[in-house]
Amino acid sequence: MAEADCLFCKIAKGEVPAEIVREGERTLAFRDINPQAPTHVLVIPREHHPDAASAAAAGTGLVDEVVTEAHAVAEAEGVAGTGYRLVFNTGSGAGQTVFHLHAHVLGGRGLNWPPG
Ligand code: C5P
Repeated sequence: MAEADCLFCKIAKGEVPAEIVREGERTLAFRDINPQAPTHVLVIPREHHPDAASAAAAGTGLVDEVVTEAHAVAEAEGVAGTGYRLVFNTGSGAGQTVFHLHAHVLGGRGLNWPPG
């Protein structure tokens, strides 16, 4: 399932370039084009789902896979030990701008709480 106008579907299909750091059968991880931390990687499923909640509700297992891949990215980036932040912006009011499920993996600097 892919959506014609979805940027992350195009990245998953190789139609839009991205700096890919990890590829799985059902997932892909690439560096955020506008990094907010020394490590800022996005993990997406190849299949289109607007957000994590809808993928979970559909019983795809993809949210689990995205989280597992995100941790593997954190380990590869050397931030798993010190800690990293996993963010699923959900809805425009929370800052979601691309409506294809993605987890932000942020690390490599101190991360404040609450987030802005
Ligand atoms: O959670 P949100 O939907 O705002 O995240 C989308 C992210 O996708 C942004 O952090 C943005 O920098 C990133 N992006 C990207 N490559 C693009 C377009 C957007 O990494 N070509």
